[in-house]
Amino acid sequence: METTCFICGAPEITLQRYPSIACNDCVSRAVNWEGKPVQFFNAEYGAGFMATFEDGSVDHDTTYTHTAYIDGTPVFVNEARFGGTVVEPIDLLPESWRDRRPGQHKPGQ
Ligand SMILES: [Zn+2]
Repeated sequence: METTCFICGAPEITLQRYPSIACNDCVSRAVNWEGKPVQFFNAEYGAGFMATFEDGSVDHDTTYTHTAYIDGTPVFVNEARFGGTVVEPIDLLPESWRDRRPGQHKPGQ
């Protein structure tokens, strides 16, 4: 399925399951709530979600809130259903995660 990046409008090929995603170029500009560059990974082999800083250390806030920013636009970041990670419009952030705020993360959550 062909669609366009919801940030920059570049053409994107995507699985139908994700009709609106950010392209790799835009994802590479993602920052956390403090403006620090972040990257997104699976926490384990092909599953789970985690965000890390450029030095490889875990960004617990972004991992917990599933929210990052691209060019000032908040985005929803998550594990993709079949492995990898996906960046979608913030509207798609599940309701049960919307109350999460940076700094509220506690170990084990
Ligand atoms: Zn883009």
